[in-house]
Amino acid sequence: MLHAKEISSTELTRHYLDRAQASDLNAFLHIDAELSLAQAAAADLQLAAGSAGPLTGIPIAHKDIFVTEGWRSTAGSKMLAKYVSPFNATVVDKFAAAGMVTLGKLNCDEFAMGSSNQNSAFGPVKNPWDTLAVPGGSSGGSAAAIAARLAPAATATDTGGSIRQPASFCGVTGIKPTYGRVSRFGMIAFASSLDQGGPMAQTAEDCAMLLNEMVGFDTRDSTSLTAEQGNLREDFTRELGTPLAGLRIGVPKEYFGEGLAADVESAVRAALDQFVKLGATLVDISLPKTAQSIPVYYIIAPAEASSNLSRFDGVRYGHRASEYRDLADMYKKSRAEGFGAEVQRRIMVGTYVLCHGYYDAYYLKAQKIRRLIADDFQAVLGKTCDVIMGPVAPTVAWDLGEKTDDPVAAYLADIFTLSTSLAGLPGMSIPCGFGQGEKNGKRPVGLQIIGNYFAEARLLGIAHQYQLATDWHSRAPAGI
Ligand code: GLN
Repeated sequence: MLHAKEISSTELTRHYLDRAQASDLNAFLHIDAELSLAQAAAADLQLAAGSAGPLTGIPIAHKDIFVTEGWRSTAGSKMLAKYVSPFNATVVDKFAAAGMVTLGKLNCDEFAMGSSNQNSAFGPVKNPWDTLAVPGGSSGGSAAAIAARLAPAATATDTGGSIRQPASFCGVTGIKPTYGRVSRFGMIAFASSLDQGGPMAQTAEDCAMLLNEMVGFDTRDSTSLTAEQGNLREDFTRELGTPLAGLRIGVPKEYFGEGLAADVESAVRAALDQFVKLGATLVDISLPKTAQSIPVYYIIAPAEASSNLSRFDGVRYGHRASEYRDLADMYKKSRAEGFGAEVQRRIMVGTYVLCHGYYDAYYLKAQKIRRLIADDFQAVLGKTCDVIMGPVAPTVAWDLGEKTDDPVAAYLADIFTLSTSLAGLPGMSIPCGFGQGEKNGKRPVGLQIIGNYFAEARLLGIAHQYQLATDWHSRAPAGI
Protein backbone atom coordinates (compact mmCIF):
# COMPACT_ATOMS: atom_id res chain seq x y z
CA MET A 1 0.00 0.00 0.00
CA LEU A 2 2.91 2.35 0.72
CA HIS A 3 4.48 1.68 -2.65
CA ALA A 4 1.12 2.02 -4.43
CA LYS A 5 0.64 5.34 -2.58
CA GLU A 6 -2.61 4.08 -1.09
CA ILE A 7 -1.36 5.17 2.31
CA SER A 8 1.54 7.30 3.51
CA SER A 9 4.04 6.30 6.15
CA THR A 10 2.80 9.25 8.18
CA GLU A 11 -0.76 7.86 8.13
CA LEU A 12 0.46 4.37 8.89
CA THR A 13 2.64 5.56 11.75
CA ARG A 14 -0.22 7.65 13.19
CA HIS A 15 -2.50 4.62 13.00
CA TYR A 16 -0.11 2.54 15.11
CA LEU A 17 0.79 5.38 17.48
CA ASP A 18 -2.92 5.91 18.17
CA ARG A 19 -3.42 2.22 18.83
CA ALA A 20 -0.36 2.03 21.07
CA GLN A 21 -1.38 5.13 23.02
CA ALA A 22 -4.93 3.88 23.53
CA SER A 23 -3.81 0.40 24.65
CA ASP A 24 -3.89 -0.57 28.34
CA LEU A 25 -1.69 -3.66 27.94
CA ASN A 26 1.43 -1.82 29.21
CA ALA A 27 3.36 -3.10 26.20
CA PHE A 28 4.98 0.25 25.44
CA LEU A 29 7.28 2.01 27.90
CA HIS A 30 8.11 5.05 25.84
CA ILE A 31 6.38 6.68 22.89
CA ASP A 32 7.43 9.97 21.33
CA ALA A 33 5.00 10.73 18.52
CA GLU A 34 7.00 13.69 17.28
CA LEU A 35 10.18 11.66 16.82
CA SER A 36 8.29 8.84 15.08
CA LEU A 37 6.39 11.17 12.78
CA ALA A 38 9.60 12.94 11.77
CA GLN A 39 11.00 9.57 10.67
CA ALA A 40 7.73 8.82 8.85
CA ALA A 41 7.95 12.15 7.00
CA ALA A 42 11.49 11.24 5.89
CA ALA A 43 10.24 7.85 4.72
CA ASP A 44 7.45 9.52 2.75
CA LEU A 45 10.05 11.63 0.93
CA GLN A 46 11.93 8.46 -0.03
CA LEU A 47 8.70 6.83 -1.17
CA ALA A 48 7.85 9.88 -3.25
CA ALA A 49 11.35 9.97 -4.74
CA GLY A 50 11.16 6.31 -5.71
CA SER A 51 14.21 5.44 -3.60
CA ALA A 52 12.30 3.36 -1.06
CA GLY A 53 13.31 -0.19 -0.10
CA PRO A 54 10.90 -2.98 0.80
CA LEU A 55 10.59 -1.87 4.44
CA THR A 56 10.73 1.91 3.98
CA GLY A 57 7.98 3.61 5.95
CA ILE A 58 6.94 0.53 7.95
CA PRO A 59 6.86 1.14 11.71
CA ILE A 60 8.86 -1.06 14.07
CA ALA A 61 8.93 -0.98 17.87
CA HIS A 62 12.07 -1.91 19.75
CA LYS A 63 12.42 -3.99 22.88
CA ASP A 64 13.68 -1.60 25.53
CA ILE A 65 16.95 -3.48 25.71
CA PHE A 66 18.14 -1.91 22.43
CA VAL A 67 19.48 1.57 23.07
CA THR A 68 18.00 4.42 21.08
CA GLU A 69 18.91 8.06 20.69
CA GLY A 70 15.83 10.09 21.58
CA TRP A 71 13.75 7.44 23.29
CA ARG A 72 14.68 6.34 26.82
CA SER A 73 16.39 2.97 27.15
CA THR A 74 15.58 1.32 30.46
CA ALA A 75 16.02 -2.47 30.06
CA GLY A 76 12.89 -2.62 32.23
CA SER A 77 14.95 -1.48 35.21
CA LYS A 78 14.69 1.30 37.74
CA MET A 79 18.48 1.44 37.38
CA LEU A 80 18.05 2.98 33.92
CA ALA A 81 14.64 4.61 34.40
CA LYS A 82 15.81 7.98 33.08
CA TYR A 83 18.60 6.84 30.79
CA VAL A 84 18.78 8.22 27.25
CA SER A 85 21.57 6.71 25.19
CA PRO A 86 23.90 8.98 23.22
CA PHE A 87 23.98 6.37 20.42
CA ASN A 88 21.79 3.79 18.71
CA ALA A 89 22.21 0.03 18.89
CA THR A 90 23.48 -1.36 15.58
CA VAL A 91 20.14 -3.11 15.06
CA VAL A 92 18.28 0.17 15.53
CA ASP A 93 20.58 1.88 13.03
CA LYS A 94 20.14 -0.92 10.51
CA PHE A 95 16.35 -0.68 10.57
CA ALA A 96 16.56 3.11 10.36
CA ALA A 97 18.85 2.77 7.35
CA ALA A 98 16.22 0.53 5.77
CA GLY A 99 13.77 3.43 6.15
CA MET A 100 11.75 1.89 8.97
CA VAL A 101 10.06 4.16 11.48
CA THR A 102 10.73 3.66 15.20
CA LEU A 103 7.39 3.49 17.00
CA GLY A 104 8.75 3.48 20.52
CA LYS A 105 10.16 1.17 23.18
CA LEU A 106 8.64 -2.04 24.43
CA ASN A 107 8.33 -3.37 27.95
CA CYS A 108 10.43 -6.37 28.98
CA ASP A 109 11.66 -8.22 32.04
CA GLU A 110 14.39 -6.34 33.88
CA PHE A 111 17.64 -6.85 31.94
CA ALA A 112 15.75 -9.58 30.03
CA MET A 113 15.70 -11.84 33.08
CA GLY A 114 12.40 -13.65 33.24
CA SER A 115 9.79 -15.53 31.33
CA SER A 116 6.58 -13.67 32.13
CA ASN A 117 7.41 -9.94 31.95
CA GLN A 118 6.52 -9.72 35.63
CA ASN A 119 10.09 -8.69 36.52
CA SER A 120 9.78 -5.31 34.78
CA ALA A 121 10.22 -2.35 37.12
CA PHE A 122 7.45 -0.69 35.11
CA GLY A 123 4.79 -3.29 35.73
CA PRO A 124 3.75 -6.43 33.90
CA VAL A 125 2.40 -6.59 30.36
CA LYS A 126 -1.01 -8.16 29.83
CA ASN A 127 -1.51 -10.89 27.28
CA PRO A 128 -3.86 -9.50 24.59
CA TRP A 129 -5.56 -12.91 24.20
CA ASP A 130 -6.45 -13.12 27.87
CA THR A 131 -5.65 -10.07 29.97
CA LEU A 132 -5.44 -12.23 33.09
CA ALA A 133 -2.50 -14.11 31.55
CA VAL A 134 1.17 -13.20 31.28
CA PRO A 135 2.47 -12.46 27.77
CA GLY A 136 5.62 -14.51 28.38
CA GLY A 137 9.05 -13.01 28.67
CA SER A 138 11.40 -11.48 28.63
CA SER A 139 10.20 -9.92 25.34
CA GLY A 140 6.60 -9.73 26.58
CA GLY A 141 6.04 -6.20 25.31
CA SER A 142 7.20 -7.17 21.81
CA ALA A 143 4.91 -10.20 21.59
CA ALA A 144 1.90 -8.39 23.08
CA ALA A 145 2.38 -5.42 20.73
CA ILE A 146 2.36 -7.67 17.66
CA ALA A 147 -0.59 -9.73 18.88
CA ALA A 148 -2.66 -6.63 19.69
CA ARG A 149 -1.71 -5.01 16.37
CA LEU A 150 0.00 -2.11 18.15
CA ALA A 151 2.97 -2.57 15.82
CA PRO A 152 3.46 -4.58 12.63
CA ALA A 153 7.04 -5.50 13.55
CA ALA A 154 9.17 -5.59 16.66
CA THR A 155 12.66 -6.41 17.81
CA ALA A 156 13.24 -8.84 20.64
CA THR A 157 16.15 -10.68 22.23
CA ASP A 158 16.57 -14.29 23.22
CA THR A 159 19.07 -15.45 25.84
CA GLY A 160 17.28 -18.61 26.88
CA GLY A 161 13.97 -18.38 25.05
CA SER A 162 12.85 -14.77 25.24
CA ILE A 163 11.87 -14.48 21.59
CA ARG A 164 10.31 -17.92 21.19
CA GLN A 165 8.39 -18.22 24.47
CA PRO A 166 6.56 -14.85 24.40
CA ALA A 167 5.85 -15.40 20.69
CA SER A 168 4.30 -18.72 21.67
CA PHE A 169 2.27 -17.25 24.56
CA CYS A 170 0.94 -14.41 22.39
CA GLY A 171 0.35 -16.35 19.16
CA VAL A 172 2.87 -14.49 17.00
CA THR A 173 5.92 -15.50 14.96
CA GLY A 174 9.49 -14.93 16.15
CA ILE A 175 12.94 -16.16 15.25
CA LYS A 176 16.16 -16.28 17.23
CA PRO A 177 19.00 -16.43 14.72
CA THR A 178 22.27 -18.35 15.09
CA TYR A 179 24.32 -16.84 17.91
CA GLY A 180 26.61 -14.13 16.53
CA ARG A 181 24.60 -13.27 13.41
CA VAL A 182 22.94 -10.17 14.84
CA SER A 183 25.06 -7.48 16.46
CA ARG A 184 24.87 -7.13 20.22
CA PHE A 185 26.28 -3.60 20.08
CA GLY A 186 23.87 -1.38 21.98
CA MET A 187 21.84 -4.37 23.15
CA ILE A 188 22.01 -3.99 26.93
CA ALA A 189 23.93 -7.07 28.05
CA PHE A 190 22.45 -9.87 30.14
CA ALA A 191 24.53 -13.00 29.35
CA SER A 192 26.86 -12.18 26.49
CA SER A 193 27.57 -15.71 25.26
CA LEU A 194 23.82 -16.32 24.85
CA ASP A 195 22.15 -12.97 24.05
CA GLN A 196 20.89 -12.74 20.49
CA GLY A 197 18.50 -10.29 18.85
CA GLY A 198 15.83 -11.27 16.39
CA PRO A 199 12.54 -10.11 14.89
CA MET A 200 8.91 -10.74 15.83
CA ALA A 201 5.95 -10.22 13.52
CA GLN A 202 2.71 -11.90 12.54
CA THR A 203 4.23 -14.12 9.87
CA ALA A 204 7.40 -15.95 8.92
CA GLU A 205 7.46 -13.96 5.68
CA ASP A 206 7.57 -10.68 7.64
CA CYS A 207 10.28 -12.09 9.90
CA ALA A 208 12.34 -13.03 6.83
CA MET A 209 12.15 -9.49 5.47
CA LEU A 210 13.12 -8.08 8.87
CA LEU A 211 16.01 -10.51 9.26
CA ASN A 212 17.32 -9.37 5.87
CA GLU A 213 18.11 -6.03 7.48
CA MET A 214 19.17 -7.31 10.87
CA VAL A 215 22.09 -9.70 10.33
CA GLY A 216 25.69 -8.96 9.51
CA PHE A 217 29.16 -8.66 11.01
CA ASP A 218 29.71 -5.69 13.29
CA THR A 219 33.22 -4.58 14.23
CA ARG A 220 31.76 -3.17 17.45
CA ASP A 221 30.63 -6.58 18.72
CA SER A 222 33.56 -8.86 19.51
CA THR A 223 31.46 -12.03 19.18
CA SER A 224 29.79 -10.98 15.96
CA LEU A 225 30.36 -13.61 13.25
CA THR A 226 32.26 -12.47 10.17
CA ALA A 227 31.32 -13.12 6.55
CA GLU A 228 34.22 -15.63 6.38
CA GLN A 229 32.61 -17.49 9.26
CA GLY A 230 29.41 -17.68 7.27
CA ASN A 231 27.60 -14.57 8.43
CA LEU A 232 26.74 -13.33 4.96
CA ARG A 233 24.00 -10.90 4.17
CA GLU A 234 21.55 -13.23 2.49
CA ASP A 235 18.00 -13.14 1.27
CA PHE A 236 16.04 -14.86 4.01
CA THR A 237 12.93 -14.94 1.81
CA ARG A 238 14.62 -17.23 -0.72
CA GLU A 239 13.23 -20.49 0.70
CA LEU A 240 9.68 -19.28 1.29
CA GLY A 241 8.49 -21.09 -1.83
CA THR A 242 10.41 -24.33 -1.23
CA PRO A 243 8.04 -27.32 -0.93
CA LEU A 244 8.38 -29.54 2.12
CA ALA A 245 8.43 -32.91 0.34
CA GLY A 246 11.23 -35.02 1.76
CA LEU A 247 11.80 -32.81 4.82
CA ARG A 248 12.86 -34.94 7.81
CA ILE A 249 11.53 -33.53 11.08
CA GLY A 250 13.20 -34.77 14.25
CA VAL A 251 10.78 -35.13 17.16
CA PRO A 252 12.77 -35.32 20.42
CA LYS A 253 11.27 -37.69 22.94
CA GLU A 254 12.54 -35.47 25.78
CA TYR A 255 10.23 -32.67 24.56
CA PHE A 256 7.11 -34.80 24.91
CA GLY A 257 7.59 -36.35 28.32
CA GLU A 258 6.27 -35.71 31.78
CA GLY A 259 5.42 -32.09 32.48
CA LEU A 260 4.11 -31.30 29.00
CA ALA A 261 0.50 -30.15 29.31
CA ALA A 262 -1.97 -32.27 27.34
CA ASP A 263 -3.45 -29.28 25.50
CA VAL A 264 -0.02 -28.08 24.35
CA GLU A 265 0.89 -31.60 23.27
CA SER A 266 -2.26 -32.05 21.18
CA ALA A 267 -1.81 -28.70 19.40
CA VAL A 268 1.84 -29.48 18.67
CA ARG A 269 1.04 -33.02 17.46
CA ALA A 270 -1.68 -31.61 15.19
CA ALA A 271 0.92 -29.23 13.71
CA LEU A 272 3.28 -32.16 13.12
CA ASP A 273 0.45 -33.99 11.33
CA GLN A 274 -0.01 -30.94 9.14
CA PHE A 275 3.67 -31.09 8.19
CA VAL A 276 3.24 -34.74 7.26
CA LYS A 277 0.36 -33.70 4.97
CA LEU A 278 2.74 -31.18 3.41
CA GLY A 279 5.17 -33.96 2.55
CA ALA A 280 7.48 -34.12 5.55
CA THR A 281 8.36 -37.24 7.51
CA LEU A 282 8.67 -37.47 11.27
CA VAL A 283 11.73 -39.10 12.83
CA ASP A 284 11.99 -40.03 16.50
CA ILE A 285 15.13 -38.54 17.97
CA SER A 286 16.66 -38.06 21.38
CA LEU A 287 18.36 -35.03 22.90
CA PRO A 288 19.50 -36.78 26.07
CA LYS A 289 20.99 -33.75 27.85
CA THR A 290 17.78 -31.68 27.67
CA ALA A 291 17.11 -31.79 31.43
CA GLN A 292 20.64 -30.57 32.21
CA SER A 293 19.99 -27.40 30.24
CA ILE A 294 18.21 -25.88 33.23
CA PRO A 295 21.01 -26.12 35.83
CA VAL A 296 23.63 -25.34 33.15
CA TYR A 297 21.81 -22.23 31.92
CA TYR A 298 20.99 -21.02 35.43
CA ILE A 299 24.71 -21.18 36.29
CA ILE A 300 26.17 -19.70 33.10
CA ALA A 301 23.60 -16.94 32.53
CA PRO A 302 23.79 -15.56 36.11
CA ALA A 303 27.60 -15.83 36.04
CA GLU A 304 27.77 -13.66 32.93
CA ALA A 305 25.06 -11.35 34.26
CA SER A 306 26.94 -10.76 37.51
CA SER A 307 29.92 -9.63 35.49
CA ASN A 308 27.96 -7.56 32.95
CA LEU A 309 25.88 -5.80 35.57
CA SER A 310 28.88 -4.72 37.64
CA ARG A 311 29.01 -1.64 35.41
CA PHE A 312 25.89 -0.27 37.12
CA ASP A 313 27.61 1.23 40.12
CA GLY A 314 25.89 4.60 40.38
CA VAL A 315 29.01 6.42 39.18
CA ARG A 316 28.89 6.81 35.42
CA TYR A 317 25.21 6.56 34.62
CA GLY A 318 22.03 5.03 35.93
CA HIS A 319 20.46 5.25 39.34
CA ARG A 320 22.48 6.72 42.21
CA ALA A 321 21.23 6.62 45.80
CA SER A 322 20.50 10.08 47.11
CA GLU A 323 22.13 9.51 50.49
CA TYR A 324 25.26 7.55 51.31
CA ARG A 325 28.20 7.60 53.73
CA ASP A 326 31.12 6.79 51.46
CA LEU A 327 31.93 5.26 48.09
CA ALA A 328 31.27 1.64 49.09
CA ASP A 329 27.99 2.67 50.68
CA MET A 330 27.00 4.51 47.48
CA TYR A 331 27.67 1.40 45.38
CA LYS A 332 25.66 -0.77 47.74
CA LYS A 333 22.70 1.56 48.11
CA SER A 334 22.54 2.45 44.41
CA ARG A 335 22.55 -1.22 43.41
CA ALA A 336 20.15 -2.29 46.15
CA GLU A 337 17.69 0.43 45.14
CA GLY A 338 18.15 0.20 41.37
CA PHE A 339 17.95 -3.56 40.82
CA GLY A 340 14.81 -5.63 41.33
CA ALA A 341 14.67 -8.90 43.27
CA GLU A 342 15.28 -11.27 40.34
CA VAL A 343 18.28 -9.30 39.09
CA GLN A 344 19.77 -9.24 42.59
CA ARG A 345 19.17 -12.98 42.92
CA ARG A 346 21.04 -13.65 39.69
CA ILE A 347 23.93 -11.37 40.60
CA MET A 348 24.29 -13.29 43.86
CA VAL A 349 24.06 -16.72 42.19
CA GLY A 350 26.49 -15.62 39.49
CA THR A 351 29.00 -14.20 41.93
CA TYR A 352 28.79 -17.38 44.00
CA VAL A 353 29.39 -19.80 41.11
CA LEU A 354 32.34 -17.75 39.89
CA CYS A 355 34.08 -17.40 43.20
CA HIS A 356 37.36 -19.13 43.87
CA GLY A 357 36.63 -22.52 45.37
CA TYR A 358 33.31 -22.99 43.58
CA TYR A 359 34.36 -22.07 40.04
CA ASP A 360 35.45 -25.62 39.11
CA ALA A 361 32.46 -27.25 40.74
CA TYR A 362 29.83 -25.07 39.08
CA TYR A 363 30.89 -22.72 36.31
CA LEU A 364 33.53 -24.92 34.70
CA LYS A 365 31.37 -28.00 34.94
CA ALA A 366 28.43 -26.12 33.43
CA GLN A 367 30.62 -25.08 30.49
CA LYS A 368 31.56 -28.71 29.87
CA ILE A 369 27.93 -29.85 29.91
CA ARG A 370 27.09 -26.93 27.63
CA ARG A 371 29.35 -28.52 25.03
CA LEU A 372 27.60 -31.88 25.48
CA ILE A 373 24.23 -30.20 24.99
CA ALA A 374 25.49 -28.74 21.69
CA ASP A 375 26.82 -32.19 20.74
CA ASP A 376 23.32 -33.65 21.24
CA PHE A 377 22.08 -31.48 18.38
CA GLN A 378 25.04 -32.25 16.12
CA ALA A 379 24.41 -35.96 16.58
CA VAL A 380 21.06 -35.63 14.82
CA LEU A 381 20.89 -32.45 12.72
CA GLY A 382 21.85 -33.12 9.11
CA LYS A 383 22.15 -36.81 9.97
CA THR A 384 18.84 -38.39 10.96
CA CYS A 385 16.81 -35.18 10.57
CA ASP A 386 16.94 -31.78 8.87
CA VAL A 387 15.15 -29.77 11.55
CA ILE A 388 13.73 -30.42 15.01
CA MET A 389 10.19 -29.60 16.11
CA GLY A 390 8.46 -29.61 19.43
CA PRO A 391 6.70 -27.39 21.93
CA VAL A 392 8.15 -24.01 22.92
CA ALA A 393 6.94 -24.22 26.50
CA PRO A 394 5.35 -26.97 28.60
CA THR A 395 2.11 -25.01 29.13
CA VAL A 396 0.15 -22.12 27.68
CA ALA A 397 0.62 -18.70 29.31
CA TRP A 398 0.12 -18.83 33.04
CA ASP A 399 -1.91 -16.36 35.12
CA LEU A 400 -0.56 -12.95 36.06
CA GLY A 401 0.69 -13.24 39.63
CA GLU A 402 1.58 -16.91 39.22
CA LYS A 403 5.17 -18.13 39.77
CA THR A 404 6.24 -14.72 41.09
CA ASP A 405 7.21 -16.11 44.49
CA ASP A 406 8.71 -19.25 43.05
CA PRO A 407 11.59 -18.46 40.71
CA VAL A 408 12.50 -22.13 40.29
CA ALA A 409 9.02 -22.89 38.92
CA ALA A 410 9.58 -20.20 36.30
CA TYR A 411 13.08 -21.55 35.49
CA LEU A 412 11.67 -25.05 34.93
CA ALA A 413 9.25 -23.70 32.32
CA ASP A 414 12.28 -22.80 30.14
CA ILE A 415 13.10 -26.49 29.57
CA PHE A 416 12.44 -26.57 25.81
CA THR A 417 14.17 -23.33 24.83
CA LEU A 418 17.38 -23.28 26.86
CA SER A 419 19.29 -26.02 24.98
CA THR A 420 18.98 -24.21 21.64
CA SER A 421 20.39 -21.07 23.22
CA LEU A 422 23.22 -22.90 24.96
CA ALA A 423 24.14 -24.52 21.62
CA GLY A 424 23.84 -21.17 19.77
CA LEU A 425 21.41 -22.63 17.25
CA PRO A 426 18.62 -20.77 15.45
CA GLY A 427 15.09 -21.45 16.65
CA MET A 428 11.68 -20.07 15.97
CA SER A 429 8.16 -20.14 17.29
CA ILE A 430 5.05 -20.10 15.16
CA PRO A 431 1.43 -20.13 16.33
CA CYS A 432 -0.14 -23.59 15.98
CA GLY A 433 -3.34 -23.53 18.01
CA PHE A 434 -4.84 -22.81 21.38
CA GLY A 435 -4.91 -24.46 24.76
CA GLN A 436 -8.02 -26.16 26.03
CA GLY A 437 -10.04 -24.56 28.79
CA GLU A 438 -10.71 -20.97 27.88
CA LYS A 439 -10.39 -18.67 30.89
CA ASN A 440 -10.80 -14.97 30.18
CA GLY A 441 -9.93 -15.71 26.56
CA LYS A 442 -8.05 -18.28 24.50
CA ARG A 443 -4.39 -18.91 25.24
CA PRO A 444 -2.18 -19.62 22.20
CA VAL A 445 0.25 -22.50 21.68
CA GLY A 446 3.49 -22.16 19.74
CA LEU A 447 5.39 -24.72 17.71
CA GLN A 448 9.16 -24.58 18.00
CA ILE A 449 11.34 -25.21 14.94
CA ILE A 450 15.08 -25.62 15.53
CA GLY A 451 17.69 -25.86 12.79
CA ASN A 452 21.43 -26.16 12.42
CA TYR A 453 23.74 -23.12 12.41
CA PHE A 454 22.86 -20.64 9.63
CA ALA A 455 19.64 -22.52 8.75
CA GLU A 456 17.43 -19.44 9.27
CA ALA A 457 16.26 -19.23 5.65
CA ARG A 458 15.25 -22.90 5.76
CA LEU A 459 13.36 -22.47 9.06
CA LEU A 460 11.52 -19.45 7.71
CA GLY A 461 10.62 -21.33 4.53
CA ILE A 462 9.28 -24.27 6.52
CA ALA A 463 7.26 -21.94 8.73
CA HIS A 464 5.92 -20.09 5.70
CA GLN A 465 4.70 -23.28 4.05
CA TYR A 466 2.84 -24.12 7.26
CA GLN A 467 1.38 -20.62 7.38
CA LEU A 468 0.16 -20.96 3.78
CA ALA A 469 -1.74 -24.09 4.82
CA THR A 470 -3.10 -22.84 8.18
CA ASP A 471 -4.48 -19.60 9.59
CA TRP A 472 -3.35 -19.60 13.25
CA HIS A 473 -0.90 -16.76 12.55
CA SER A 474 -3.58 -14.46 11.15
CA ARG A 475 -6.05 -14.82 13.99
CA ALA A 476 -6.43 -11.91 16.35
CA PRO A 477 -7.54 -11.74 19.98
CA ALA A 478 -11.23 -10.99 20.55
CA GLY A 479 -12.04 -7.34 19.97
CA ILE A 480 -8.82 -6.66 18.05
N1 GLN B 1 13.54 -17.12 30.93
C1 GLN B 1 14.96 -17.11 30.78
C2 GLN B 1 15.58 -16.30 31.89
O1 GLN B 1 14.88 -15.90 32.74
C3 GLN B 1 15.36 -16.56 29.42
C4 GLN B 1 15.32 -15.09 29.33
C5 GLN B 1 15.82 -14.57 28.03
O2 GLN B 1 15.90 -15.30 27.05
N2 GLN B 1 16.21 -13.31 28.02
O3 GLN B 1 16.74 -16.07 31.94
